Amino acid sequence: MRTHTRHKVPESQTEPQQSIFTAPSMTDPEPLMTTTIRSPLAQKVAGAPKSELHIHIEGSLEPELIFQLAQRNHVQLPYASIDTLRAAYAFTDLQSFLDIYYAGASVLLHEQDFYDMTMAYAERALADNVVHTEIFFDPQTHTERGVPIATAVAGIERALAEAEQRGLSSKLILCFLRHLSEADALATFEAALPLFEQYQHRLIGVGLDSSERGHPPSKFERVFAKARALGLKLVAHAGEEGPPSYIYEALDLLKVDRVDHGVRSIEDPALVARLADTRVALTVCPLSNLKLCVFDDLTKHTLKALLDKGVAVTVNSDDPAYFGGYVNDNYFATLDALQLNDAELYTIIRNGFEASFVTPAERAALIARLDAHWHGKPAH
Ligand SMILES: [Zn+2]
Repeated sequence: MRTHTRHKVPESQTEPQQSIFTAPSMTDPEPLMTTTIRSPLAQKVAGAPKSELHIHIEGSLEPELIFQLAQRNHVQLPYASIDTLRAAYAFTDLQSFLDIYYAGASVLLHEQDFYDMTMAYAERALADNVVHTEIFFDPQTHTERGVPIATAVAGIERALAEAEQRGLSSKLILCFLRHLSEADALATFEAALPLFEQYQHRLIGVGLDSSERGHPPSKFERVFAKARALGLKLVAHAGEEGPPSYIYEALDLLKVDRVDHGVRSIEDPALVARLADTRVALTVCPLSNLKLCVFDDLTKHTLKALLDKGVAVTVNSDDPAYFGGYVNDNYFATLDALQLNDAELYTIIRNGFEASFVTPAERAALIARLDAHWHGKPAH
């Protein structure tokens, strides 16, 4: 379903919330600065240089920033307060999340909004020692509200260029919303062609996201073929809620370089063997899977089983503002739940660099930094 985001709310729910920009949220599950005592292994992971390969920039919009941008842009939100919005983050499945996700993105109107959102994410990533990130954005979420793709990309790029000066390298990947038509995706791709040229240092690929069930990768075979013809990198969400057959379609029809999620591949041993043999990486998002009920308990997550079978799994945050954590939180929860050891965590972090869309020299430099940290040598 297409989600309409500009809901009117009753007058009684639109009272100004004078304190919301200063008072901490009572329901905030974990403040940015935590005093939690971590194990030595968790601390080692926290300090390690890491990549992030599965992050929807619109999913990094924290409730506080959503409300600030709504006020700045005079956008009426269907939530009375930050706490009301955060309380709505009790998702039952992917669709229940997407409904709120699109409402949150409705505050993004101007280049500065995209800059602010992206810079807020960059601060979080840098705090987690992420040194390379490959960011998704959803142009159709914005063009349907009359915001040009160029506005979104310009704001995101300005923030990423600044973040790069502070040690966070990055790429940008344009995602098609799979619940919309193939024609819409094709039109979006055509509209973005000048941007792939203008921002070729940053905008290096296309992806496929949004409601998976009922929208198989095959629906987008032609637009992916066009992107491939331009030499763009290709990724697609597959096997999150959808069946293993969707992962086969992503590999065989879309010819993706990476699979986003892919956790249901474990149901098909031949597929697992193929992923392991070809080293096509999976960008796994453990806290997202937990929050969207893909697994009812992190101890049942398939990440470790896939790792054991030689699949190049990585750990990422997906939509961190909505799912309870950024990259380090995902590592902490996963290493606890799956009892990951030192060597396994090293492999997962290294997989992230192996699967990054960087040059061989950049990859070697990133892995050297990881090795220096992991093996206890001076970082530089
Ligand atoms: Zn995702």
